[in-house]
Amino acid sequence: MIDNPNNIPYPKLAPNTVALVGIPFDEYSSFMRGPAKAPSAIRQTLHNGASNLFAENGVNLDTHPLFRDLGDLTLPGGEEAMFAIETAVERLTEQKVRILSLGGDHAITFPVVNALTRTYENLTILHLDAHPDLYDSYDGSRFSHACPFARIMESGRVKRLIQVGVRGMNDEQRRQVEKFGVTCIEMKDYRSKNPIALEGPLYLSVDMDVLDPAYAPGVSHHEPGGMSTRKVLRLIQSIGCRIVGADIVEVNPDRDVNGMTAAVAAKFVKEIAGVMIRQVK
Ligand code: MN
Ligand code: MN
Repeated sequence: MIDNPNNIPYPKLAPNTVALVGIPFDEYSSFMRGPAKAPSAIRQTLHNGASNLFAENGVNLDTHPLFRDLGDLTLPGGEEAMFAIETAVERLTEQKVRILSLGGDHAITFPVVNALTRTYENLTILHLDAHPDLYDSYDGSRFSHACPFARIMESGRVKRLIQVGVRGMNDEQRRQVEKFGVTCIEMKDYRSKNPIALEGPLYLSVDMDVLDPAYAPGVSHHEPGGMSTRKVLRLIQSIGCRIVGADIVEVNPDRDVNGMTAAVAAKFVKEIAGVMIRQVK
């Protein structure tokens, strides 16, 4: 368990370990709070005994030596949380540990990616979301969960941002896509038979609202017309380049129905970790 991200007795982990880290932070959600409760809801589903911990590629997270659950970060409030997240992730990433983080809202992705860019140059980000999250600021905040990819792109430290599943962009968001040279594959144009050419090192960021609300009702922003669970799984399973970090964000347990969304997120934990572990020869 990680108690204090600024003073962590980090376990010594083998390089390439996939470390599950909860980041229970939702102060920068614009519409409703709730995603801070997601890490415990997702873990509860993972371990409730209803299904095993095998990924579809045969990796068993229950016994695999490269999978570790480090528990949740304990975080201060506001901007200090951003620094605390960045510090915690940096300490793990510099040991070549690969973080799979559970948000939290999407604001956590900025400090996480910032930390990764200190170890990995030329990072490509694959970002699955109903929204581009590229606002310069939102409701007066530049750290809002509507802004992380604007912060990441203006840092100039990632090579490429590829977004998939976006729907209903407004004029400002379209201008930001242009300005930052983002490859934005809108949901209306996405065809799974045309795979996206990805180069590693890759960071994968999954906002659960990329799914149609029929599959994942437990999110703050319902955007109909999204992906099926299987479509997202096929995309994850098709990634051939090296994944050096990933997150699953925006589960809102307060809105969930019978834990359906937490169950989909738990499934994504298994499949993302399974793909990451299989990449180690
Ligand atoms: Mn998002
Ligand atoms: Mn979203």
